[in-house]
Amino acid sequence: MTTPAFPTGTILGYPRIGRRRELKKAVEAFWAGRIDAVELEAAAAELRATTRERLAGLGLGRTDSAIPESFSFYDQVLDAAVTVGAVPARFSDLVDADAAIDLAGYFTLARGDGERAPLEMTKWFDTNYHYLVPEIGPDTRFTLANDRIVREFVEAKAAGFVTRPVIVGPVTFLLLSKAAADAPAGFQPLSRLGDLVAVYQELLARLADAGVEWVQLDEPGLVNESIEIPRATQLEALATAYDVLAAGGSRRPAIVVAAPYGSLDDALDVLAASAIEAIAIDLVRGTLPIGLADDTRAGLADKTLVAGVIDGHNIWRGDLAAAFDTAAAVLDLSPSVAVSTSTSLQHVPHDVDDESALDHLNGWLAFADQKVAQVAVLARGLVDGRSAIAAELDAASAALAQRLSAPGVRDGAVRARAAALTDADFSRGDYAERLAVQTEELDLPPLPTTTIGSFPQTGEIRRARAAHNRGELSEADYVAEMRAEISRVVDLQEEIGLDVLVHGEPERNDMVQYFAENLDGFDVTENGWVQSYGSRCTRPSILWGDVSRPAPITVEWSAYTQSLTEKPVKGMLTGPVTILAWSFVRDDQPLGETARQVGLALRDEIADLEAAGIRIVQVDEPALRELLPLKKADHADYLDWSVGSFRLATAGARTATQIHTHLCYSEFGVIIDAILGLDADVTSIEAARSRMEVVADLESSGFDHGIGPGVYDIHSPRVPSVTELTELIEHALDAIPERQLWINPDCGLKTRGYDETVASLRNMLDATRGVRASVTASV
Ligand code: GLN
Ligand code: ZN
Repeated sequence: MTTPAFPTGTILGYPRIGRRRELKKAVEAFWAGRIDAVELEAAAAELRATTRERLAGLGLGRTDSAIPESFSFYDQVLDAAVTVGAVPARFSDLVDADAAIDLAGYFTLARGDGERAPLEMTKWFDTNYHYLVPEIGPDTRFTLANDRIVREFVEAKAAGFVTRPVIVGPVTFLLLSKAAADAPAGFQPLSRLGDLVAVYQELLARLADAGVEWVQLDEPGLVNESIEIPRATQLEALATAYDVLAAGGSRRPAIVVAAPYGSLDDALDVLAASAIEAIAIDLVRGTLPIGLADDTRAGLADKTLVAGVIDGHNIWRGDLAAAFDTAAAVLDLSPSVAVSTSTSLQHVPHDVDDESALDHLNGWLAFADQKVAQVAVLARGLVDGRSAIAAELDAASAALAQRLSAPGVRDGAVRARAAALTDADFSRGDYAERLAVQTEELDLPPLPTTTIGSFPQTGEIRRARAAHNRGELSEADYVAEMRAEISRVVDLQEEIGLDVLVHGEPERNDMVQYFAENLDGFDVTENGWVQSYGSRCTRPSILWGDVSRPAPITVEWSAYTQSLTEKPVKGMLTGPVTILAWSFVRDDQPLGETARQVGLALRDEIADLEAAGIRIVQVDEPALRELLPLKKADHADYLDWSVGSFRLATAGARTATQIHTHLCYSEFGVIIDAILGLDADVTSIEAARSRMEVVADLESSGFDHGIGPGVYDIHSPRVPSVTELTELIEHALDAIPERQLWINPDCGLKTRGYDETVASLRNMLDATRGVRASVTASV
């Protein structure tokens, strides 16, 4: 086989949702039955065609495999699963004799139907994207069941393109899979590698037949140290897979293995030793490998190295000259170097030019389209020399210099305050003392009941907020409407009998954007949508400058709510780590510094809440787990600054003020140290879906603060019965002392309807009262 040249400039993937969320709209229309599969396919084909034209227009080659074919109707891992026929047994009625599944069936895997649970969804590396977890067992029958990836290439070819199909690689696919429910204990999906690779081999042959010159296999699984499979086993799997796939003489396209989200470390040696033609390395999150073994050097020198120097995960124009120098330095390792993004661009919005209100940031930003143009510039520099692109590099450097000295980016007062912090600012003192004072002041019953904050966001609330944003509803009318809603929610909670009340968060569109809109240093976008999962998109705010709080944010809402009831009302804030995790953050200083600034703003907010009579404040940190770095060596530093910023936010609170936090996940064991470190008086966590597995971890950790393991799953409309809830509470009490246990749902109720919410909360209270009675009786 003679290897076709790899394109000098490329990207690892492009947003699929569409500049105006066309795919979201089409897919949701299909789900609602407004369009059929043929119409949905046509809409998707149009989107792919537009994308290819756009990418060519921005400077990627039409016929040199520079344009990735990275479309997905829902998720790339689900795509790989249906390509290889890995459909769990409970969906077997959806597949035909050839193991193929149609579009409707594909979406059923993602979304479930009736009592049939969908594939589990989980975070994709350290991003805010979620993938579907394949379920693999000893009997999963791998077969080339779906040739969509071949057809998309053929479709492109008919339009005059030679594109580069992208698929999740076999090792990462299995590393990200979980054992099927009926698999024997200890079964590892990775043990099925041989069978899976055989199907990939067949797929590569089909792609070669169709005229594919380069195929991209994504193997980010190898950069993630959190995967609990021995590293040696992972590396052996990688070696085996690519020995087979890249074997000489087999009919296949040239292979580029891409490893976004971090350094490959020892996996680079394995790939260097393989016969694949190219390796795409992340030089934004990862670094240029140093101290390589001679064999590895020799192996790399034979391959094209695709230098991921343009950040695919953030929205800054950045230091283009430095990116060029990094790419050029890779020439030390191989004579054949290409430029790329560090990751797929699926994590950034489409186009800065779609924003009309970001003028002051405009020259500093690069969304997907601007990044493609940057790649094209650097590729030209690699071919024609640095001087050929000097003007572009200089323009980027000038914009960067202007950004670093622009008003608001560095605020002297904010910095002076952060610099003056001492250890005492991060500590609330003795827990036992707090507990005693709070118990006395709050006078709550045993097993206190509460909710996580939000109540159902009705159409009326959303319409009022939207009308207010458009200027069609006056501030006074808007406030009146929200207050009426709060008052309804308070009455409802009183009537149900909850002990600690919330205001329901009707004024918040999103728990991060709401604070971003009210803090200095942030901007929000108009069209900056990014896929979160499936058709769900978020619009992350841009945190570009030093953060401060021009005025109290939540105080009036909370004070109003407290004025309606004798029971304690929880003030409700979003924590610094979550605000950072769900925004695009500045890249010119360590995250920890930015987090401290947010922490200080929240600290002031808590003081103002206290002054307004609020006795309990909840600071939500659902993203604490999500930002945990992929490399173990980075964990200590991360925990230090993340926990530190939360403590800074909360440590100014009075002894009598009870601080709560809420975390949205259940792999409690992974991050128990962080939870201990937060030192919140009460922590609520997700637990119902795993039937309270976490209580065992809690018991063994010696955690002695308040804890509310969610007793029912709010992600489904199902109303849990009193019996079921009673069992869960009793189960929790087996491991957790009664003094510590709080009773609450798993998460906020914002996406639920009122009917099921009221029914579920009533049952929760009935169950709690029953358990209270038996606990008191047995004392
Ligand atoms: N207070 C928020 C709510 O109830 C918490 C949501 C979350 O952590 N995801 O909606
Ligand atoms: Zn939650």
